[in-house]
Amino acid sequence: MMLLRRAALVILALVLLGGAAAIVAARSPAAIAYLVERQIRARLSQPLDKTELFDAKALRVILCGTSSPLPDPNRAKSCTLVIAGGRVFVVDTGPDSWKVLALMGIPGERVAGIFLTHFHSDHFGDLGEFRFQTWAAGRKHPLPVFGGPGVERITAGINEAYALDDGYRAAHHGRDITPIEAAPLLARPFHVGMSTARDEAEVILDSDGLKITAFDVNHPPIKPAVGYRFDYRGRSVVISGDTTKWRNVVTNAKGADVLVHEAQSQRMRQIIADVALQQGNPVIAKIFSDIENYHASPVDAAEVANQAGVRLLVLTHFSPPLPTSWLNPLYFEGMSAHRPDAAWVAGFDGLRIDLPVGSSEIIQSKMPMGIFR
Ligand SMILES: [Zn+2]
Ligand SMILES: [Zn+2]
Repeated sequence: MMLLRRAALVILALVLLGGAAAIVAARSPAAIAYLVERQIRARLSQPLDKTELFDAKALRVILCGTSSPLPDPNRAKSCTLVIAGGRVFVVDTGPDSWKVLALMGIPGERVAGIFLTHFHSDHFGDLGEFRFQTWAAGRKHPLPVFGGPGVERITAGINEAYALDDGYRAAHHGRDITPIEAAPLLARPFHVGMSTARDEAEVILDSDGLKITAFDVNHPPIKPAVGYRFDYRGRSVVISGDTTKWRNVVTNAKGADVLVHEAQSQRMRQIIADVALQQGNPVIAKIFSDIENYHASPVDAAEVANQAGVRLLVLTHFSPPLPTSWLNPLYFEGMSAHRPDAAWVAGFDGLRIDLPVGSSEIIQSKMPMGIFR
């Protein structure tokens, strides 16, 4: 009876799914491996279908890291992509953020430049990984890294740390594949970011319809500390970097379509400080008290967006971590009194926003992520 039933299953699998499924039904490990190989080959052969990301029809923003220094199982640390006219610009390369780009299928060789908001490690910890991965993906020129004074020290240190690895890769794969002169980061320092008193702004790139402006923000005692504004064919996105509620963010975000702004829950921060003190952990208690005065709350960010006339506010850099949405009522307490629900969103890794040229549309979607997508 068992034999008959199994034979019937094999025939059914043959009819419905073809020969490979029938082999699996026979429970042969070799056959299962064969079937898996067929699936892998078929899936890898499919085009990645990301080409529309790189046309000139829209300015696009993708979040590639939305956490602050504390671990969050679902978020990399600070990273935002801005894509304009086929070029990918990366604002901050926090730890784990390269993995998010790779899982979204963003081609490394398209990364045209990296823009650091400041030199806290949660904003550049993956810079070495970006250096290596974009080179291995086919980058043929040194990778520009824009930042305020001090960016040269960051790039020099990482270039030195990776020098031995560069040699291994170049020797193994050959100079046509991995030309060693293309491997390094190239510092592109600018002057703003040192003086919140003067609230300066500086155009740091203006080419092919794209203008990028760096501007002072307030993240004391960290200097330089800047935000960036991207203007492309009538559409605009502003990235705050780490800052308190600050007038120069309002000035530079005026009329922007999208403001990506950091957000710290002061109530959750205080809970952690209080509990650490009760548990006799003065280090954590002190750190969680100290960080109150150099970040903005979600409501602060809403007020900045309102004053600037920003159309969509995207919150990011969640501090403390925001690993589950059931924390939202506490985390985003007071937001509904300051801004309509449709005019802000809690960011997440993979959030994609399209701003089509010649329209006022703001289209939100989610990037597929995974090895095979
Ligand atoms: Zn940070
Ligand atoms: Zn910071």
